[in-house]
Amino acid sequence: MTHALAPVEPRLSEPARTWLSRPLQSVSIDGTHRAGRSEDAVPVIDPGTGRTLTSYRSASTEDVAAAVSAARVAADDGRWSGLDPERREAVLFRLADLLHRDLNFVAELESVDTGKPLSDATIDVEEAISVLRYYAGWASKVEGVVIPAPRRLFAVATREPLGVCAAITPWNFPLPILMYKLAPAVALGNTFVAKPSELASLSAIYFSELCSEAGLPDGVVNVVCGAGAVGAALAGSAGIDKLAFTGSTATGRAVMRSAADCSTKVSLELGGKSPHVVFADADLDAAVDGVMAGIWTNAGQVCIAGSRLILEESIKESFLAELYHRTSKLTLGHGLDPASTLGPLISKAQQQKVADALSDAESAGAELHSIGSIPGEGFFAAPTVVTGVQPGRGIDRDEVFGPVLTVQSFDTEAEAIALANNTEYGLASGVWSSNVGVIHRVARKLRAGSVWANTYGIFHPTLPFGGVKDSGFGRELGSEAVQQYTELKTLVIDLNPGSSS
Ligand code: ADP
Repeated sequence: MTHALAPVEPRLSEPARTWLSRPLQSVSIDGTHRAGRSEDAVPVIDPGTGRTLTSYRSASTEDVAAAVSAARVAADDGRWSGLDPERREAVLFRLADLLHRDLNFVAELESVDTGKPLSDATIDVEEAISVLRYYAGWASKVEGVVIPAPRRLFAVATREPLGVCAAITPWNFPLPILMYKLAPAVALGNTFVAKPSELASLSAIYFSELCSEAGLPDGVVNVVCGAGAVGAALAGSAGIDKLAFTGSTATGRAVMRSAADCSTKVSLELGGKSPHVVFADADLDAAVDGVMAGIWTNAGQVCIAGSRLILEESIKESFLAELYHRTSKLTLGHGLDPASTLGPLISKAQQQKVADALSDAESAGAELHSIGSIPGEGFFAAPTVVTGVQPGRGIDRDEVFGPVLTVQSFDTEAEAIALANNTEYGLASGVWSSNVGVIHRVARKLRAGSVWANTYGIFHPTLPFGGVKDSGFGRELGSEAVQQYTELKTLVIDLNPGSSS
């Protein structure tokens, strides 16, 4: 029995259409790719049309247990951690090459699954490849230390894999966010269980096929697809050494509670309501583009979205006029339409959530400036600038996860900093000024994991990323991930056993 339906999306290429018309192998355990064993069917919906392309069988709780146990066996028998580091590195470079070989195909799957323009999906897959290559290189670079212990002892600390690592990931950047977790974990000798979002699972399913083709030993990367219940079963599984989560703050807290019962180490990358501060002396032409990229990219469904614009009062009017003008040039459309520069929201529910947030803001006295028109079908939302907001309240406080930008203004640097920090979140922030002193002073005071100055939203495998406050804890990317996915082992040898000196 199969739950696969005939794909209806006319814009799909032949290879994507063929792949989607087969039953989706929503579970990959110990090198076997198959359908999940739950009775629940998970639809694959094209957000650009609202139509169901196909569906897959969710993983069952037994599938989750089997995936964790396969990862445990593979971790304990050393089939991966016991290989020479250059061997692990070579397999992961091969995996990155396969992803590069299939770049266009995977980008197409990602585009139709999330709604984002194909050009953006291509950038996502390229990012995933570069993260994979960066950590493949780390496999052979991690060193231990000799410790200056008392002289009768010889003491070293070596970095060892944690064992089984797991990830629960969201739908907005499915493959890059999975790779932030999987690439360092696997490069450093751990085994892995991934639970992608039910709203965008296709790239993870395809990636699990590539893992086998690349020659990763069975059981090293396991994937279980399904909705929140599958994530909850994973978070509550004993036998996982580390769980990395990216998603909403509420779900992150639930995941942390479950992990606590199993003594599982966690890292959480949660929501944000990031301030984007523009001083009058900034390169305003570049700043308008930076602010637009910070909030309209991925239709605002970005944890680092610069969703609170904080403008120096003297430039407010002219800056907003230019922002409206340039925003009106964007083309909302289906991700696979080459003319589209802005895609839809992920789901009907997300579309409703954005509409509700805007109507609540209007009722609270804010003014809405919606720009452009939206296509007739699909889960689209027009870019909207909201003025007259009460700082730190309502739409200026809550993460909307849509193309919605609130605006406030300031006269002094101190006021700008106070407005920027007036949030429970602390993921990212932006500051624009031509005065390096202003940039350093403001950056020091912003309570956020990342500060981008005269740019916004720069990601690179070398740059650590993560939040403070309600945006979570732990850092991904960069050398920091080496600490996150290994544990120190201290070896102490007594050089004069039995002697008192
Ligand atoms: P969103 O509301 O934006 O979809 P979520 O935080 O709910 O964000 O989802 C992020 C990831 O967490 C997804 O993979 C989702 O399936 C998973 N998830 C949802 N609920 C739970 C839960 N109770 N326990 C574990 N994972 C969950």
